[in-house]
Amino acid sequence: MSATRADPRVRAPFGRRAATVTGAERHGPYVVLRCADPAGPRPAAGQFYMLTAGTRWGGGQDERPFLPRAFSVLRAAVGSDELQFMLEDVGPGTRRLCELEPGEELLLVGPLGRGFVAPREGRRALLVGGGVGIAPLAILQDQLPQTSTVLLGFRDGAHAAGSQLLADPRVATDDGSVGHRGLVTDLIEQELAADPHAELFACGPPPMLEAVRALCADRAIPGQLALESGMACGYGACFGCVVATRDGYLRLCLDGPVLEAARLGRVR
Ligand SMILES: Cc1cc2nc3c(=O)[nH]c(=O)nc-3n(C[C@H](O)[C@H](O)[C@H](O)COP(=O)(O)OP(=O)(O)OC[C@H]3O[C@@H](n4cnc5c(N)ncnc54)[C@H](O)[C@@H]3O)c2cc1C
Repeated sequence: MSATRADPRVRAPFGRRAATVTGAERHGPYVVLRCADPAGPRPAAGQFYMLTAGTRWGGGQDERPFLPRAFSVLRAAVGSDELQFMLEDVGPGTRRLCELEPGEELLLVGPLGRGFVAPREGRRALLVGGGVGIAPLAILQDQLPQTSTVLLGFRDGAHAAGSQLLADPRVATDDGSVGHRGLVTDLIEQELAADPHAELFACGPPPMLEAVRALCADRAIPGQLALESGMACGYGACFGCVVATRDGYLRLCLDGPVLEAARLGRVR
């Protein structure tokens, strides 16, 4: 992995820089946005970027411009300047980013935050993702030197199209239209029954992360959880993304977004 166990951070260059969009592909309801970022370092798995469209980013007549929005890096091949992001259109910022076309400008700050660290000695990596939360697991799968087991949960078959973005996943859908009918946590239970010497790497909606955290606590299994929180700046200035942990309050953008499951009382 590109970051060490002690400091899972690659430092961002100072300031915001322009990247050129090189592609946008649909995977069911998700858009994978590609851009060329020749001026930035290669990110570590689990780090994120603050993204802004170069044009039409709010600020129309009687509108205020949007703040940048936070996105995990989906993929960043070594030896290339390409970055990929996986977007779900949930509001005005993600909608505008989903519209971007090749040749348009994307403004970015990053890579930011602390990502995943390598699994502990003797434990296999179980990668667990829910919905658009699968994004940081693709780059993690790429960066892990050993083969990992990938368990992905989606609400239905259309969203399960996102599972194509990782290699050899086991899939669960709420409606049973693809893979196991039920929750991704059912698949974790099956994997742990077969071999409990695992470390969980998870990203997804808060109820899924809370289930993974509780499971890690009950079974004394280590887990690394990539959390989300509203972020206005991404580099520690605004305190908008503060989360409560057993060690007190942390700014998720600086101390996370990946935190050890054992540091968390409950994921909300
Ligand atoms: C570290 C990090 C990594 C992220 N990675 C991705 C990613 O890879 N792909 C992706 O599609 N999205 C990701 N997100 C979420 C993304 O930042 C939000 O969906 C986006 O900011 C929404 O902007 P909007 O203008 O489209 O919608 P808004 O109108 O701003 O929000 C739409 C709805 O989503 C809620 N919301 C917005 N941001 C968050 C948040 N951070 N946590 C919980 N709820 C939120 C709002 O309360 C509202 O209900 C990530 C967020 C963080 C903090």
